[in-house]
Formats: sequence, structure tokens, C-alpha cells
Amino acid sequence: MAISIHPAVDHGVKPGRADFAGGTLVCHCASDPVKVHIGVNVAFDHVCGCTKCWKPKGALFSLVAVVPRDKLTVVANGQKLKIVDASAPIQRHACTGCGVHMYGRIENKDHPFYGFDFVHPELLQEHGWAAPEFAAFVSSIIESGFPPSRMSEVRERLKQLGLEPYDSLSPALMDAIATHAAKKKGTLAA
Ligand SMILES: [Zn+2]
Ligand SMILES: [Zn+2]
Repeated sequence: MAISIHPAVDHGVKPGRADFAGGTLVCHCASDPVKVHIGVNVAFDHVCGCTKCWKPKGALFSLVAVVPRDKLTVVANGQKLKIVDASAPIQRHACTGCGVHMYGRIENKDHPFYGFDFVHPELLQEHGWAAPEFAAFVSSIIESGFPPSRMSEVRERLKQLGLEPYDSLSPALMDAIATHAAKKKGTLAA
């Protein structure tokens, strides 16, 4: 049986359009859907195996990327949104109608990714958003019930798709987190 990573990449990773400048994320409600506008392309697009990100039904991974928070606006039916877990570092605003997470926001100004909102690009009604570049928190799919004995199949499939598997974030993002920590400690000049 072929491994399904996520519907947006299972038939190959589609390249993005260089001139993509944003669009509207729409939840899955048949009526009165929540709409969130982003005024910029997504960045650091990746598939994520963690247990917190919203995943479409049957998918092992979520598809998730970031945008600067000042580029994101709720434009329709925002009254349907509710924060999944207010104590989590990333507050995920989910639609109470369909369960889809519309955006994740960091309110802690000391968080290394403060200033960025997390979004699921597949919810964009427009095509051409930046393609996913890597796979994060791959080992975490075991926590969702995936058999550990099949992890090599998953990592092989990710490599086939050109999504390098990491068990944390990508080296670029891990370096950014460490740089933030070092500057805070003073071991690196701010
Ligand atoms: Zn909805
Ligand atoms: Zn995740």
C-alpha cells in the first residue's frame, strides 16, 4: 500500500508561481465559511507530522507555512473561530463549524517565531503558493498511531517527493531558533 503523505503532495510537489502575492484561505463549511486573507506569499512551506497541526482526513502530515502576522486578516465569518488551546505557544484559531484551523498565532513576544502566523496553504482558493520544501517532525506521526515499523517507508517516500525528512524543524529554522536563544543569553551579539 502506498503511503499517503498529504493530498497536496501525494501526486508530486507542484512548483509555486514566482509572482504569487497572496490570496484567501477558506474553511470547509458548506455555508458561511470562514475566510482569511493573506497579502503575501507563504514562506517556509513544509509538511509537518506533529500532533498539533490540523491535517485533512486520512493525511499523515499537515501542510503548513508562515506569513507575517500583519499580512493576515480575517475577512468573513470570524465569529466562528475559536482558539483550540490558549495555553499552547501557537494559538490555533479553528472553525467551530468544520474544525479546520485557519491560522495559528504566537502572542508571546519572546518566542523565536513571534511576528509570524502559521497557515495551511491548501486552504487558499488561488493556486501558485510557494511549494513545500521539507518535512518536519516526521517521527511524531508515531504519536498519532502510525506503526514505528513503517517509518522507513515514510522517510523514503518523503525523499522521493523531494521533501527532506527531519525529526524537528529544518536546519535553517533550528539555526534561527538557536540564534534567537543565543542573542537572548548574550552568547551572540544582538
Ligand atoms: Zn468552517
Ligand atoms: Zn505541526
